[in-house]
Amino acid sequence: MVHPLKNSGLARTYVITGKDGLMVVDVGSIGSAEDVVEYVTGTPGMELGDILYVVSTHFHIDHIGGIGHLLDKCPPTTKALFNYMVEDYLNGKRKLSLIKNWFVGCVPASVASTRYVRKFSHFKFEGLAGIPLPGLRNIVKLPYGRDRIGYFKCEGDTGYNLGFDEWEVLATPGHTEDSVSFYNGASGELICGDMILNMKEGGRGALNRFYWSRKLIIDSYNRLCNTIKPQTIYPGHGEIIKGDENALLDVETF
Ligand SMILES: [Zn+2]
Repeated sequence: MVHPLKNSGLARTYVITGKDGLMVVDVGSIGSAEDVVEYVTGTPGMELGDILYVVSTHFHIDHIGGIGHLLDKCPPTTKALFNYMVEDYLNGKRKLSLIKNWFVGCVPASVASTRYVRKFSHFKFEGLAGIPLPGLRNIVKLPYGRDRIGYFKCEGDTGYNLGFDEWEVLATPGHTEDSVSFYNGASGELICGDMILNMKEGGRGALNRFYWSRKLIIDSYNRLCNTIKPQTIYPGHGEIIKGDENALLDVETF
């Protein structure tokens, strides 16, 4: 079951309960790492030692910028999991995707996202890794060791089974090359990262105009529409999206 943190800074942070422990999705700032600690330690039956994985929907600073701070509070066995492409970023073999539409895509969503910011540390990142700009995208240093990092490999239609309840990772490139979604077919829950945003209260969600590849973000969305039926979509930014049959089908596209 997904537990959305109410105000976790610019990007949404989710804590997932499973039968063997907890998984945390998108810890995007030092403030968001603090929020996870506060939420987990303040919830009966949960403790930081239960966090098995800290996963990311994509390697952007607002989704990864607080992971090290959370790992510091967890047992040494807690792993940060990324798309396998991130290993190439860290080894200098591949570069972060450059994104189009900064003004029509990024600026309005960022401004709208500030309503989830509650404290200064929501703007504090533990490094400069994950900025998709020429010159800055070469900076990929993370403040934790490679021994704390694992990777999932998913491409095309083949999902990657996380071994955490029914959760699987689906490749959904478009916003970036390394973008993935997390899906639980048993509970009908989809965490879609920045493929779909929903900046309006009661909104139906919209395909993100801030993308690396317009073709791939449309392809990824269409592929999901044809293969899965989530009743709840948890976007990278904004409000949760609900639908009776398939919440994906109501999403505004372009
Ligand atoms: Zn984002």
